[in-house]
Amino acid sequence: MQWRVPLADLDFDQAETQAVLQVLNSRWLSMGTVAQEFERQFAAMVGAQYAFAVSNATQALHLACLALGIGAGDEVIVPSLSFVATANCVLYTGAKVRFADILSADEPTISPTEIERLITPRTRAIILMHYGGYPCRMGEIMEIAARRNLAIIEDSAHAPGASLAGRSLGAWGDAGCFSFYSNKNLSTGEGGMLVTNREDVARQVNALRSHGMTSLTWDRHQGHAYTYDVTTLGYNYRIDEIRSAIGLAQLSKLAQNNARRAEITRRYWQALRDTPLQLPFSRLEGAAEISPAYHILPILLPENASRRKFMDEMKANGIQTSIHYPPIHQFSYFRRMFPGVSLPQTERFAAREVTLPLYPHMDKTSLDAVIAALHKALVN
Ligand SMILES: *Cc1c(COP(=O)(O)O)cnc(C)c1O
Repeated sequence: MQWRVPLADLDFDQAETQAVLQVLNSRWLSMGTVAQEFERQFAAMVGAQYAFAVSNATQALHLACLALGIGAGDEVIVPSLSFVATANCVLYTGAKVRFADILSADEPTISPTEIERLITPRTRAIILMHYGGYPCRMGEIMEIAARRNLAIIEDSAHAPGASLAGRSLGAWGDAGCFSFYSNKNLSTGEGGMLVTNREDVARQVNALRSHGMTSLTWDRHQGHAYTYDVTTLGYNYRIDEIRSAIGLAQLSKLAQNNARRAEITRRYWQALRDTPLQLPFSRLEGAAEISPAYHILPILLPENASRRKFMDEMKANGIQTSIHYPPIHQFSYFRRMFPGVSLPQTERFAAREVTLPLYPHMDKTSLDAVIAALHKALVN
């Protein structure tokens, strides 16, 4: 389908092309010096001690759970208003998830009160998701985690470059997991990163990412080793040099692109203020301590509106829209696994939510086209 305004678009140019060609010409394609440099620069950007590049954020989340010792018999509290990977990573380990509701329609991140309500003697960790790149209530959540001795994993897939009170999202908890999937703020096609400040977590992740091997192909290529031992049951969750090179090119654009996303978000909020729409997170604007990544632009339709009709109208005008998210606890697999879960705020939010186009180089003509189509669709 050819959209007049797509939901998301890559900011790729000669920089990414050159970076890839350079790797191809170097004749070393698997994890090596380019991946190491990507990790070094990403860790510096986040202000974390350690960073491990992997092939996607789902792997980063799985590694975080494993490195924190989560397994059968444990429970992990997760938001239901997220991508399914946020819950799947827990289930891979044999542990169970407990789904938490969001704070409100204005602030659809995990509710600290809900976290407290769901804690049992089996609870080991909380996974947070910084929806749209807007920070969760980290102060309250860190306090609960410390008091109840729980680990925190930040699903920061939406949040590269975002911060709260001067501290990067992803660097607050025990591990932070980022996605470089095609439609994310920093894109490599498939890709991800795990950051941590814990030496013990870093050691585990380093081993688990590559089959628990004590030396890698790269080390042997360098002449540092001839053989290796396998010390634990690990995985192949490595990244390659090609995507690491794209990641480095994208990383150098991240701050500027997030600033552009901020600008476009403010224009949307300004233009939509006097409509019957509710604009999540717009009340946070001007809060000095919050610096979001502005990953997506969510709006909430009036309670009685037909979302299907609205999205069809937008589509007829060439505007692509999306939904973030169908709640995880309502998927058939999860209803079978965890029956009887009821999360009123999440369900109400998810039923009304529509995501509008947002990408760094979105121009005024495109923005005006979205707003015009939206006004038309709201009248109908
Ligand atoms: C994209 C996304 C993921 C998964 O990322 P992959 O890199 O595709 O594995 C996880 N959580 C959230 C919130 C996401 O948006």
